[in-house]
Amino acid sequence: MSQSEHPVEDDVQSILDEVILPDGTALGTSGRISGLTFAGGRISLSVQIDAAEADAFIPIRDEVEARLRGLSGVTSVFAVLTSERKMSENGSVSGPPDLAKPVTRADPLAEVGHVIAVASGKGGVGKSTTTVNLGLALRALGLKVGILDADIYGPSLPTLLGLHGKPAMGEGRKLKPMRAFGLEAMSMGLLVEPETAMVWRGPMVMSAITQMMADVEWGKLDILLVDMPPGTGDAQLALAQGTRLAGAVIVSTPQDLSLIDARRGIAMFRKVDVPILGIIENMSHFVCPDCGGSHAIFGQGGARAEAARLGVPYLGGIPLTMDLRVASDAGQPVTARDPEGPLGQIFQQIARALLGGLEEARVDSSRRAP
Ligand code: ADP
Repeated sequence: MSQSEHPVEDDVQSILDEVILPDGTALGTSGRISGLTFAGGRISLSVQIDAAEADAFIPIRDEVEARLRGLSGVTSVFAVLTSERKMSENGSVSGPPDLAKPVTRADPLAEVGHVIAVASGKGGVGKSTTTVNLGLALRALGLKVGILDADIYGPSLPTLLGLHGKPAMGEGRKLKPMRAFGLEAMSMGLLVEPETAMVWRGPMVMSAITQMMADVEWGKLDILLVDMPPGTGDAQLALAQGTRLAGAVIVSTPQDLSLIDARRGIAMFRKVDVPILGIIENMSHFVCPDCGGSHAIFGQGGARAEAARLGVPYLGGIPLTMDLRVASDAGQPVTARDPEGPLGQIFQQIARALLGGLEEARVDSSRRAP
């Protein structure tokens, strides 16, 4: 083989050095780039911008994407414009997003491109199953992904990913995340006995989760998915407010009741100005293991119609299948076992829709900011 299959880092760097920003500096040396990754012919990177710069940077992003796409061996390029919210000392978001300041060193998630909450109005709708498989699909698209299981009352990440033992301690007394199927993972279920957290009230939940974010060596990640505790109580509100969230995804089953809960979830995130990246409908239809037929047990199109009514994107529907249930409970997620299989494809489609929405939400919020 004479041709290199993947782009060399030098080629990417020289392209970034050639792209000139409005202030005359080169993008490559501007310190604005984070989360630059290459995997399987895919390149992804984030460019830090200020609110007022959004319009000026859209053509720059397009130029970067087009030029990187021209490199031999590159199959896709995903460049996002990101702007960060300013956190107050107690971790709450103060006022409208302040996009003028880059992330400081003190931000424990400084190297994380986007923190995305996966939430549901109530438990048992498959939020954790969806989070894990979505994480794996994002990973299959070439992104570096972490999952924080903040579902303190029912941490299921250890089961879903087949994690055993306790996390190791790294430098500076920070916990090392556990690794599974190419994901970085941390769960309260790995740190305390399940009964301990059950009795915690809102503030304790919030401080435990804040600690899991701050005291874990997440390192460089494109996306950190936060599997939220189900519901829309004080703890969830505090978490949504106190975390640098790029957006939230709502998981719902098609039944009406669950959609009512989903609406509450959406209202909660809107209250704290977190963009809703979309609704995922889980158990949208039943795929019969015997006849292979698809049955819309809970009715059809509920979540899609609801999403349209609420003005939020519908990211896709996941069928209720025996395979997904058995694989999840065995700690062998179906999308890890068979990433290109039917379920893997569904999750990858949802992941792509999510990434598209993420970028739009970023640019929109930049435009809205004063
Ligand atoms: P939540 O996080 O919302 O409480 P889980 O992800 O723990 O829900 O899912 C609850 C149960 O439903 C688990 O046993 C899981 O394997 C199962 N489950 C979730 N989604 C599906 C699906 N699409 N098909 C089959 N079983 C599913």
